[in-house]
Amino acid sequence: MHCFTWIRAAAASVMLASAGAISIPPATAGEPTKGDYFHTGAGAWYLERAKGDIVTIPLRGNINVLMGSGANIVVLSGSEGKFLVDAGIKPSQDKLQGALGKIGPSPLKYVVNTHWHWDHTEGNEWMRAAGATIVAQRHTLNHLSETTHVDDWNWTFAPVPAGARPTIIVDDEMEFTFAGESIKVEHFGPGHTDGDVWVYFQKADVVALGDTFWNGSFPFIDNEDGGSVNSAIDWANKAIKRTTDKTILVPGHGPVGNRAQLIEFRDMLVTVRDKVGALKSQGKSLEDIIAVKPTAAFDDRWGRFVIDSKFFTKLVYDGL
Ligand SMILES: [Zn+2]
Ligand SMILES: [Zn+2]
Repeated sequence: MHCFTWIRAAAASVMLASAGAISIPPATAGEPTKGDYFHTGAGAWYLERAKGDIVTIPLRGNINVLMGSGANIVVLSGSEGKFLVDAGIKPSQDKLQGALGKIGPSPLKYVVNTHWHWDHTEGNEWMRAAGATIVAQRHTLNHLSETTHVDDWNWTFAPVPAGARPTIIVDDEMEFTFAGESIKVEHFGPGHTDGDVWVYFQKADVVALGDTFWNGSFPFIDNEDGGSVNSAIDWANKAIKRTTDKTILVPGHGPVGNRAQLIEFRDMLVTVRDKVGALKSQGKSLEDIIAVKPTAAFDDRWGRFVIDSKFFTKLVYDGL
């Protein structure tokens, strides 16, 4: 809870700050404009946050979470090396190396990308150079290999360098035995994007959900790349079925959580989907729907991170 309060405070302060000295990844075409991902969007928030320290939170077994470099990063550590879920962002390379070194001296061996988004994959390049093999779902490899424009972020992402792309490709599922753990990487179909995977550490009963779970905030949904509110709900339902009250659930964003919090997240998605869907089917425009504030009951609690109520309403509307 303490950590979540901090995240909220930082989110509020970044609205007043610029991305500062940290360089913004190049777009492939045109000039960045006011209102894009790296100036006023989530990217700006992650760049600002990356100026601060990495926070390491021990979970169970040899598993830790690192927070502060884009999305949450899960680290399983053993004498044979480290197995990571998500790669964070480039500006925090030194800080991440420091945090990983404190967990233990063994080298990076595997990094699973839960999906293609920048805040989960920009660290791929240095991690691969440090010896890691990158694992991802096939659609994630495709997005990282081509130019991808995201209207909702007003940004065009260039293909990542060949050396930063996944080389172990998951279609539906893959199992790893590593550092005494059995690790299941599974794709349940489209969710937040078309290439989401979850990573389940079976012995420790810890699961990393990537951006199919935002603990306590409205999520981004990548409608242009295979996600939608309905597929996000489907994913949450599958994750609820496959976990128990004892499972530790690591979201892509927000504090480490539990199944009850995932159920709250699912219920929020369903309520907003039903409201926006009913109005859209009556022929109401997005502007009209935003005006009646279909997320009002959730705004105080869920609307304080990088996706505000209007943006979330648009994301839900566009996906229906
Ligand atoms: Zn993310
Ligand atoms: Zn994402």
